[in-house]
Parts: sequence; C-alpha cells; structure tokens
Amino acid sequence: MHELGLAYSVFDVVAQEMSRRRGSILKLIELSVGRLSGVDAGFLKFSLEAILRASPYVSARVEIVAVKAYCRCAKCGNMFEPPAYYCPCPGCGSHEISLLQGGELKIRSLVIETA
Ligand SMILES: [Zn+2]
Repeated sequence: MHELGLAYSVFDVVAQEMSRRRGSILKLIELSVGRLSGVDAGFLKFSLEAILRASPYVSARVEIVAVKAYCRCAKCGNMFEPPAYYCPCPGCGSHEISLLQGGELKIRSLVIETA
C-alpha cells in the first residue's frame, strides 16, 4: 500500500497549493514517475483519483508521465539506460553508478482554472 501513502502526500501538497487560490478549480494533476522509482503508476493514479473523488476537487483528473531512467558511470562517464536499479556499467563493468533520472516521483504540473 506504498502508493496509497504517496497519493495522500501528493494530495496534501496539491490541497495546500489550492488553499492559496481560493475560488479556483483544479482540473488536472500531472505527475512524473520515474521507471526506477518503485512506484506502481497505475495504482498511484487509481489511489489519487479515489482521494480526489472524496475531496473538494472532484473534477480533477490525474495524468502520469513516465520518466526514463538514465545512469552515469563514475569511472568511464558512460551514460546508459539501466534495465534494473542495480546494474553495472555496460561499458567497463564498474558498479560506481549514479542514477541521473528515473528515480523520482514528483508533481510535474497542476492545471488550475481561475474563477
Ligand atoms: Zn563505465
């Protein structure tokens, strides 16, 4: 139920933003979900929509944008798309890898209609 907790966190941030824009209507929440974030995007969308249905933002939709994962090798500088979280550099076999993107879950944008 990891995604349900995340959905509540996203909702809290959105509700806080909306409280500063009284009278506005929330139309769309767009989320970026990294391929290696460990988040089930479908279940996150489902959970967040369920929370929205029971909130003042009943008409808001949720869209998920999948973000590709990219790693860089600290040894040879090779950039590659890793098939899994832990994988050695395909160029030199080093395990000194840093994830540049693809591990994130964040709110990409909110579409708000001002009254
Ligand atoms: Zn390498």
